[in-house]
Amino acid sequence: MRLTGHPRSRRRTLTLAAAAVLAVPAVAVPAAVGSAEPSAAELPSGNTAYRTLADYEADLAELVADHPDLVKPITLPYPTTSGRTVRGVEISTNVTADDGKPVFVDVGMHHGNEFPSGELTMEFAIDLVERAAAGDRSVTRLLDRARVVVVPVVNVDGFVRGRRQTDTNTDMNRNYGLGWLPISTGGAAPWSEPETRNMEWLLSTRQAVVFNTQHTCIQVVLYPPLQLEAGPAQDVDRLHALASEVASIYGPGYKALPSAEDYETTGEAIDWAYYATRGLALTTETCPDAGVPRTYQTQVLDVYDEHRDAMLTMLETAADPDQYAVIEGQGPKGAVLRVTKAFDMYTSPYLQPDGATRPSSFTTTLGSDLTIESRNGKFEWAVNPSYRPIPAYQEDGVHGFQTGFYEEPWILTCERPDGTVLQTVEVNVDLGESVTVDLKECRRKFHRTRP
Ligand SMILES: [Zn+2]
Repeated sequence: MRLTGHPRSRRRTLTLAAAAVLAVPAVAVPAAVGSAEPSAAELPSGNTAYRTLADYEADLAELVADHPDLVKPITLPYPTTSGRTVRGVEISTNVTADDGKPVFVDVGMHHGNEFPSGELTMEFAIDLVERAAAGDRSVTRLLDRARVVVVPVVNVDGFVRGRRQTDTNTDMNRNYGLGWLPISTGGAAPWSEPETRNMEWLLSTRQAVVFNTQHTCIQVVLYPPLQLEAGPAQDVDRLHALASEVASIYGPGYKALPSAEDYETTGEAIDWAYYATRGLALTTETCPDAGVPRTYQTQVLDVYDEHRDAMLTMLETAADPDQYAVIEGQGPKGAVLRVTKAFDMYTSPYLQPDGATRPSSFTTTLGSDLTIESRNGKFEWAVNPSYRPIPAYQEDGVHGFQTGFYEEPWILTCERPDGTVLQTVEVNVDLGESVTVDLKECRRKFHRTRP
């Protein structure tokens, strides 16, 4: 059963949510996290207990089946070590359109034993869809402008076994390539795990303006970098602003911090995600206050209202034109536009098989496409800025406190649907900027009869 009742109370809650989004930290709702009493709060699903994997799959399928205009399924490309499929959904107004909207990627359960992280992620997806379907303007105006990608359980094998690690005993959140080190749970090599490569694929193809990975159990919202010697991220002001807004929504005990100041780690999702894409990448950890028993009630039900408001803030940020770049123009209807770039990134230095200590390199390839669907061929495409922050991890070791960006244009191709490239343009575009590309050559060739 879904959201059969209480439309009035939901609307009221959302008004509060909008206020919280704008509020300064002091106004954050004093959440009832200290109370162990059952509250009257109800989840969007109406659930009262943790889901199984079958429950997640059924809920994702039901969202798609019930709301095909708002929800479409995603299957991540790599089966897990034990052969399981990782699934998610995309949510937006007119979701099947290729409309170039900015994207918010939200995932749960890198750690398979952090059950609330999957629940909160799944509940937010249901909540968004049900509110949009009910015509709630505060949600539809966001879904008109942005697209949400939700994958509630990224470490499916770990979840099924109730274990933090994957089935190769690897901590997914130590297996991302940037700054990777061969620690005991880091995996055999950077990106050795299919679950991590799924995330690499997702974030390399989606132009995510905001990426959130949900965890338990501390009260923090973390942003890059993972290590003190890396120094502050180039976009530290934007990262801190979003993280602290989100932290204030969860409650007065929550802190917004660079991940390194919580404790230092290696090979985590947010570091690679930010330094590769320049999307705002956050690790959100929820937990009841100290001394409160960790139950479904305290970890899911009692925090859900704040979680929804936190996620709406991230979605609002993803939809903000100051937080992404735009490529626009006019091409032939039916043509496929593609933006790509490929670059090398590096692990931390470590002892290699030949006895030398040095980093390993790996190539990150970003690539997204957009089919021109409008009759007049006009398009507007929200992308990550082409200027990429220089990371501390370099070919010859760690050089922290970088302040610069690589000037590294998007390579934009205009193609026939069969992949024939008709025109190639280099596009430099920065945060908050919009660049118009001239696709006359593509238009001319597209309509010319082929020999
Ligand atoms: Zn975790």
